[in-house]
Amino acid sequence: MKYDLVLVRFGEITIKGRNRNRFEAMLLTRIKSALKEMPNLEFVRGYARVYIHLNGESYEQVGDRLKDIFGIQTFSPVISSDHDLEVIRETSLQLMRSLSPAPRTFKVSVKRGWKQYPHDSVEMNHLVGAHVLRNTPDLKVDVRSPDVELKIDIQHESTYIYCEVEKAAGGFPLGMNGKGMLLLSGGIDSPVAGWMAMRKGLKIEAVHFHSYPFTSEQAKEKVISLAKRLAYYGGKIKLHLVPFTELQTKLAQSGHDSLIITLMRRSMLKITERLAEQNGALAIVTGDSLGQVASQTLGSMNVIGRSSSLPLLRPLVMMDKQDIIDCAERIGTFQTSILPFEDCCTLFVPKSPATNPNLALVERVEAHMGEELERLIEEAVLGTEVLVLREDGDIESAGEPKEEDAWF
Ligand code: ATP
Ligand code: MG
Repeated sequence: MKYDLVLVRFGEITIKGRNRNRFEAMLLTRIKSALKEMPNLEFVRGYARVYIHLNGESYEQVGDRLKDIFGIQTFSPVISSDHDLEVIRETSLQLMRSLSPAPRTFKVSVKRGWKQYPHDSVEMNHLVGAHVLRNTPDLKVDVRSPDVELKIDIQHESTYIYCEVEKAAGGFPLGMNGKGMLLLSGGIDSPVAGWMAMRKGLKIEAVHFHSYPFTSEQAKEKVISLAKRLAYYGGKIKLHLVPFTELQTKLAQSGHDSLIITLMRRSMLKITERLAEQNGALAIVTGDSLGQVASQTLGSMNVIGRSSSLPLLRPLVMMDKQDIIDCAERIGTFQTSILPFEDCCTLFVPKSPATNPNLALVERVEAHMGEELERLIEEAVLGTEVLVLREDGDIESAGEPKEEDAWF
């Protein structure tokens, strides 16, 4: 079927009252940016929706991109027809015939937005329904739960005919709920946590700790490609690469083997908190999942979490590993995540990491390091390299975002 336009329906933002207008404008900016490779598209804003005129561009290509945009609930490919009854009937029939698999039942729902149209919606239901039925053997009407609902929307400028409804990513428009720093390791969990945070309307900046040269160049490339994948969803992502070697080595010499991971995680949060402040973020997002490893017991989370005063968001905290893996596969990060390159945290893994670290002891060890700890944290912040990853996979040099990237 040759579609003329795509009807895009917005999701949860419609309940947000006064700010709705601004959020819808944000979402439209995001949609335009994601589709900018298709120059012929035209965008017309309606109430809680957008009409995208294809002007010859491919519906499949547009739909493929729309399904991954946060804040879009559903979308439909639409044929526009003139008001002539015979044209409407014939177009409806052709549309029904083009469906695969062929529906067994259907109903017609006509909406007459243009009240001057000579037939009212009840008449139109019959006029179109009868024509489709007469010309499609085996098709029946079912008004309660039809396989297909054929929708006809008669407006002054045109009549819109459609019946497919595709599901998109849902959630809130990106950036609507502010910004968070995502702790991005090379593992399976943290990219999924990042995707979930973005879906809830958080703009994210990724922070990765590396222990170069103990961790390899490939480990860094792996994180860059995970961040690129997140940029496909998030429009554009800043990736902070923090040098962690010196601090990590010092922490490993503290004489408390079982606390190394706890100490490392606390320092990571302290560094991230400073990066958050510099970049206007109000939360830290991690891929922690309760009970998964020693650093993710409630006891560990408690002691680690106290090192930062920012809210710690852990989207995966109550999820099963298999569900996290399924999500990683769906969003296209899994294959990269399972590449075998080492992470900084695997370098100094103690034989028996504490599952219930003692907060007072941890604080004593840190106090004992005194100003040196503060100096190393500050140096790590200063030595942080920043990459800006674009949604088309290119790397921009770091710098201030351009004005067109309003959601950045
Ligand atoms: P992941 O699959 O995300 O690596 P994991 O199950 O391996 O998670 P941990 O290694 O214990 O879990 O890490 C818990 C969380 O701490 C990660 O999800 C991530 O948010 C953060 N984290 C761990 N290592 C790093 C790192 N090198 N850089 C940035 N964040 C990290
Ligand atoms: Mg990990």
